[in-house]
Amino acid sequence: MASYEYETHEYDVVVVGAGGAGLRATLGMAEQGLRTACVTKVFPTRSHTVAAQGGIAASLSNMGPDNWQWHMYDTVKGSDWLGDTDAMEYLAREAPKAVYELEHYGVPFSRTEEGKIYQRPFGGHTTEFGEGPPVQRTCAAADRTGHAILHTLYGQSLKNNAEFYIEYFALDLIITDGKCTGVVAWKLDDGTMHVFTAKMVVLATGGYGRAYFSATSAHTCTGDGGGMVARAGLPLQDMEFVQFHPTGIYGSGCLITEGARGEGGYLTNSEGERFMERYAPTYKDLASRDVVSRCMTMEIREGRGVGENKDHIHLHLNHLPPETLHERLPGISESARIFAGVDLTKEPIPVLPTVHYNMGGIPTNYWGEVLNPTAENPNATYPGLMAVGEAGCASVHGANRLGSNSLIDLVVFGRAAAIKAAEVVNPAERNAPVNTAAVDAIFDRFDSFRNANGSTPTADLRLEMQRAMQADAAVFRTDKTLAEGVEKMKAIAAKMSDIKVTDRSLVWNSDLMETLELANLMPNALATIVGAEARKESRGAHAHEDYPDRDDENWRKHSLAWIEGNDVRLDYRPVHLDPLTALEDGGIDLKKIAPKARVY
Ligand SMILES: Cc1cc2nc3c(=O)[nH]c(=O)nc-3n(C[C@H](O)[C@H](O)[C@H](O)COP(=O)(O)OP(=O)(O)OC[C@H]3O[C@@H](n4cnc5c(N)ncnc54)[C@H](O)[C@@H]3O)c2cc1C
Repeated sequence: MASYEYETHEYDVVVVGAGGAGLRATLGMAEQGLRTACVTKVFPTRSHTVAAQGGIAASLSNMGPDNWQWHMYDTVKGSDWLGDTDAMEYLAREAPKAVYELEHYGVPFSRTEEGKIYQRPFGGHTTEFGEGPPVQRTCAAADRTGHAILHTLYGQSLKNNAEFYIEYFALDLIITDGKCTGVVAWKLDDGTMHVFTAKMVVLATGGYGRAYFSATSAHTCTGDGGGMVARAGLPLQDMEFVQFHPTGIYGSGCLITEGARGEGGYLTNSEGERFMERYAPTYKDLASRDVVSRCMTMEIREGRGVGENKDHIHLHLNHLPPETLHERLPGISESARIFAGVDLTKEPIPVLPTVHYNMGGIPTNYWGEVLNPTAENPNATYPGLMAVGEAGCASVHGANRLGSNSLIDLVVFGRAAAIKAAEVVNPAERNAPVNTAAVDAIFDRFDSFRNANGSTPTADLRLEMQRAMQADAAVFRTDKTLAEGVEKMKAIAAKMSDIKVTDRSLVWNSDLMETLELANLMPNALATIVGAEARKESRGAHAHEDYPDRDDENWRKHSLAWIEGNDVRLDYRPVHLDPLTALEDGGIDLKKIAPKARVY
């Protein structure tokens, strides 16, 4: 048995992850006087949230009429009627408050002439319950909104005495009698081990975009929280819904924000045609992301792609006034130059739908409490554990997320988790003693990877997984490709037992860290492809060629995936249909959000 010495740390709350969600939760917990630690594998301001360009949605009405009911309607429709009604209401209602809080914490938002927060149009955000013109709802700090939010929240967290453990890699949750009682982490720069005991652990580990070959997300987006939860015997939810962003730069995958189309950019095919006018006559290039990505893929499949291989699409910004580009989109001018060699004031940018966001994740209620659904109680929660941000699934994005609805999800639910934790965590209580048996088991697993001496290098197996997912679980899905993909992925997952790690050191061992990350990506990838194969309908990002229609009667339900070895057990839980507030108390009119065809 492996044995490692470790240092013990005792906190009320341990947050794993220092992206927008983790920092907002950390700040909220610390503000309320809970002893809070934030454990993160990268420096907080290097979390993937830093790359969010476009902005954060909230119905502030700074640019014209807007209200939370319209925002909620757009979110429901965007989700293709798979989101939970209570959570979507909470998101839309709390959004303005959460944005004003950010403003007061010091986020340097762009401004209107009158000095109000500037808001831009974004895909799928409309007025009058989808009957009116596009709305300007997305609050922006130029095209560096995530960057501004992270720096502000990190500073505020330090000011409120939250304690940071930076470049600590969380290995696994400590589970004691059906309850989460802490987390074990490996300090990357000196190889020491750390056991954190806590009354509440919050997973804010971000998405798992790196399960695919081409993704806009950072290399650190490896679904570590999902991996930990799966190993704890808890399910992952709605994993088949993976968002492809319409405009990743062809070749590199680097993102060109939807804000570019929000500011007037448009797409063309090889005939120079603005083809989105044909598919989405009302909102055109600003239809929701799954719709635009699918239309682009169809144009390419029908031979109207651009370039030598007719395998991508053009995004035009060259008609926009140079002042707009300079003021509103300075970062993407730079990205286009560096990653596509294009001067966007003169030429179009070559783009392609690229993996961008995971709608699925760790199931939670709208307080961030992790669900452990049973047949008797589909809403049962798991004690001591919360999940927020892209790692979680509340579920507000359902089958497809609207642009700028993730940043608002991070802060609304990071804040909600802190409000809830203040209710359920009692700082006067002592923490349970370290569960040494559980800690030893975590070290055993760590040690087996550290000494792994098989024949498959981590990088090779990761590439194999990424290619399989890209080929068989991408924008277009058929019974045949999905069934093949499931078989491929099961075989690939089985090769984890043949992994080869060459570096045995404990200090700055990227070989071992990437192996642990691969072991976390694997359950996420498996759940994604198995969930997709099982879902016999098309909904949001899950467009199935053999079942082109949405089937509300049989499939308006959340998938739950338990990982059992290299296999996945699936079950389902009902979508929450009840709002938080009744109509007579100022709630939304349920007739307005009843399912209908999703046309933009
Ligand atoms: C290029 C790009 C642009 C985007 N633009 C927008 C936008 O304009 N508007 C919008 O609403 N959304 C946007 N999104 C989506 C949004 O940015 C993300 O969904 C969101 O930032 C995720 O935040 P998070 O806090 O959940 O996770 P992240 O920001 O990914 O942070 C994850 C954190 O977890 C930590 N972590 C992970 N695993 C471990 C571990 N094992 N041990 C310790 N720490 C760990 C990491 O160190 C990191 O701090 C964009 C996404 C991308 C990729």
